[in-house]
Amino acid sequence: MARYTGACCRLCRRENMELFLKGERCFTDKCAIKRRNYPPGQHGQARTKVSSYGTQLREKQKVRRIYGILEKQFRGYFEKADRMKGVTGENLLSLLERRLDNIVYRLGFASSRSEARILVRHCHFTVNGRKVNIPSYQVKVNDVIELREKSRTVNSINESLEAVARRGIPAWLELDKDAYRGLVKANFAREDVTTPIQEQLIVELYSK
Ligand code: SF4
Repeated sequence: MARYTGACCRLCRRENMELFLKGERCFTDKCAIKRRNYPPGQHGQARTKVSSYGTQLREKQKVRRIYGILEKQFRGYFEKADRMKGVTGENLLSLLERRLDNIVYRLGFASSRSEARILVRHCHFTVNGRKVNIPSYQVKVNDVIELREKSRTVNSINESLEAVARRGIPAWLELDKDAYRGLVKANFAREDVTTPIQEQLIVELYSK
């Protein structure tokens, strides 16, 4: 399972926005965007003119980085979204949002998607009563995601659940905190993603 292992804050600075890749640190003054709000590297502070291709590329990179997905898999998601009925951009976001690691993050069991991915890999969750350790697993409406009994004393999970109110849980998901259980109660809707994303730019980029 390939994943990005470099510096996370550098990615936020490159995209010129908070991508919330480092959990609790993102809500503190240590956030690199608050301290150095310019792109990383020797020429980071130089003024550059961005072409329309550049804008599309940056949008794609931003979304890829938010969900922690490498290029090959991301293109695979796009091709799948393109084959589905409906609006390709929204289909793409739906595929990304319905990944099990994203659901674990959205429900508040983890403070970041990368932490959620590790928890899923380490088999801490069941989906409809069956152990699932595949971060890219696609959840469906009425799926029940539950923290396994033996994992309920893990400190980091309990701390994340305490802090979930700050992020809020999207309307299509439901959390029963006491039972360590989440429910996918509806289909994903575009308005549930509040991060500024222009998915149409990604469609334009890949359609060239
Ligand atoms: Fe991004 Fe979080 Fe680093 Fe801030 S602390 S730059 S939001 S990863």
